[in-house]
Amino acid sequence: MSFHDLEIPETVLDIARKLESAGFEAWCVGGNLRDALLKHPHSDYDIATSAKPEQVQKLFARTVGVGIKYGTVGVLDRSRVLHEVTTFRQDVATDGRHAVVAYGASLEEDLARRDFTINAMAYHPLRREWRDPFDGAADLDARMVRAVGNPAQRFREDYLRILRAIRFAARFDFTIDPATWEAARAASPGLRQLSAERVRDEWFKSLRTARSITQLVMLWVHVGAAGIWIPELEGVEGFDNALPDPSPAARDPVLLTALLCRAPVAVLRRLKASNAEIGRAAALVKGPEEPSSLDQQSVRRWLAEVDAAADDLIALWSLRHGGEPPWTVAVTEIRRRGDPLTRSDLAITGSDLKALGTSGPRIGETLAALLDRVLDDPALNKRDTLVALARSML
Ligand code: ATP
Ligand code: MG
Repeated sequence: MSFHDLEIPETVLDIARKLESAGFEAWCVGGNLRDALLKHPHSDYDIATSAKPEQVQKLFARTVGVGIKYGTVGVLDRSRVLHEVTTFRQDVATDGRHAVVAYGASLEEDLARRDFTINAMAYHPLRREWRDPFDGAADLDARMVRAVGNPAQRFREDYLRILRAIRFAARFDFTIDPATWEAARAASPGLRQLSAERVRDEWFKSLRTARSITQLVMLWVHVGAAGIWIPELEGVEGFDNALPDPSPAARDPVLLTALLCRAPVAVLRRLKASNAEIGRAAALVKGPEEPSSLDQQSVRRWLAEVDAAADDLIALWSLRHGGEPPWTVAVTEIRRRGDPLTRSDLAITGSDLKALGTSGPRIGETLAALLDRVLDDPALNKRDTLVALARSML
């Protein structure tokens, strides 16, 4: 990977100039440099600086304390776009889960605390100089994820790095350097100490970005992460054919977890996913997966039954079978016409039924019976017709 000049956006240059003219160092660092060298799309460059967070806050008119605990100040540019400016740090104490950081570090020290060589490069946006003390560019060439420094020690400092190594390997289709991999496997019991939230974030990000989900799952299984956090993955076989290219929109972590695991609700609970995410998984499991047949009546009944889960069920079916299900044609037509599918779509209400002399639980039962008729034949959904039908049911 030959180093070359990067095109740095004017907004980032402005921030760097301001820091440097106040006597501080300002470098572009981290994953965006890696992505730029790989010619992958990426967001704007993060900046690392010798200025302390308070000094950054003083220097810029509009800032937000996005990660002030970790020394990160968000600087808003004229278009109110946020740029992360983080003070050079050193880890002074680590326990496998969190780090106590100290400022006053040099760029070299800041790079040394980063996880992998490909994430530990720096570029000076004004002088157009590279710093690559751990040969990250060579590892990009070799398509290799390699820990900075002693891998066993680096994983002991923060066990999440085990899952990060796998995420980057699966995202770029890189191998993991043998010594780094051995250390990751040996350290994997430490993954138990992580919070469910951090593990979930890594799992979700990995599902969104992995080039091959099979490779991702195999790495989780072989490193020992699956056994601890998602043993459901241990029986999984390959199915990448059916998967869309990694793109955040097409890669839904809830759907993919449901595709991979028989009991996705239990997995998502364990990973402390949101109630909305757990609810989606529950609806997917509940199904039914598909309508009883392809005719419009059956498809309407299916839509009525699965309600908000219809699109997720269709997406899951598509992932499983590598193409859209044959009933999506009917679904599209039903939706385009706006066929009634729920009680509230009926042209008659509970109070109408009351006026007809119905009361108590009979009201609900009658509405259910009317909806049943309307699902068969949407043309019945007219007030007069339904009133007449309701009368006949009294
Ligand atoms: P992406 O944002 O695309 O997932 P990234 O490399 O930018 O990848 P971030 O989590 O945004 O990853 O972190 C930014 C940088 O901070 C990383 O490139 C790495 O240098 C450093 N870093 C992040 N997490 C850790 C960690 N747990 N241990 C050591 N360094 C880390
Ligand atoms: Mg990032």
